[in-house]
Amino acid sequence: MTDKIKVGVSSCLLGNKVRYDGGHKHDRYITDILGRYFDFLPVCPEVECGLSIPRETMHLAGEIENPRLVTTKTGIDHTSRMIDFCKRRVKELEKENLCAFIFKKDSPSSGLYRVKVFGKAGQSQKKGRGMFAAALVDNFPLLPVEEEGRLHDAPLRENFIEKVFCYKRWQDFLNSAPDYKKLIDFHARHKLQLMAHSPKHLSQMGKLVAAGKKVPKQELLDNYQASLLEAMDLKATVKKNVNVLYHIMGYFKKLISADEKAEMIRLIENYHGQTVPLVVPLTLVNHFIRKYDIGYLKNQHYLEPHPAELMLRNHV
Ligand code: SF4
Repeated sequence: MTDKIKVGVSSCLLGNKVRYDGGHKHDRYITDILGRYFDFLPVCPEVECGLSIPRETMHLAGEIENPRLVTTKTGIDHTSRMIDFCKRRVKELEKENLCAFIFKKDSPSSGLYRVKVFGKAGQSQKKGRGMFAAALVDNFPLLPVEEEGRLHDAPLRENFIEKVFCYKRWQDFLNSAPDYKKLIDFHARHKLQLMAHSPKHLSQMGKLVAAGKKVPKQELLDNYQASLLEAMDLKATVKKNVNVLYHIMGYFKKLISADEKAEMIRLIENYHGQTVPLVVPLTLVNHFIRKYDIGYLKNQHYLEPHPAELMLRNHV
């Protein structure tokens, strides 16, 4: 991959001093590690909707599904201002070809999950979503989205970043004047990745592609896209990865020696028992694929779904 992937991000996470107190929430993992592969488009809903720096803190209040955005001490209601901004900004973002968005957690504007919503008696429930995050998800329901806090959890991080790279490949595919033959090729290269996330989706998508010639092209692409992103949302668990590793081994088990086979099984089972991370059996798998030049496997995105330098599979 030569181009960086365009990703929206809550501005304060990049170190921009846009928070209510004039500070930032610089996340080094985002800027220093992901920044090698992602081109960030910063959005600060509160500043971009016209509020000052510094400003009074705000929170969500009222109904969880339809909260209001009010200042915490003086009770000024900024809901209409924020709604107008959100409508305008998500329309602008349609032209940006974003492949993901990373949000600042807990914010009444930017938080994606479990944002506090205060009731009349002052009690709060952590069941809300920041107003801009909600507008963005409504407008781009298929876009990979995550919060910065959850990116520090290794399996969630690996799953999100894998989905972002897959989404980018799909967008590139859609921009390449796709035809039926290209879809067959796209599907073939993603089979093992899909198997690791959802064998059920892999089977359904195989049928979808097989019957695809009889279906109008746009309908076929829409259906495939929905299944692809739904499958990638399901976590690739240890059990599912073990299944894929044994499946891969089936391609070269007659080519390798008894010792090599025993070593392969030992590493898969060590991974199964979580005494080694996924990268360990995969390193041996890649060695055998190169050694025996197994073309079908070489093309599988499962083997390198994101840059190895991110070392995401060293921690899952
Ligand atoms: S959390 Fe969102 S609204 Fe608050 S400072 Fe960061 S980008 Fe701006």
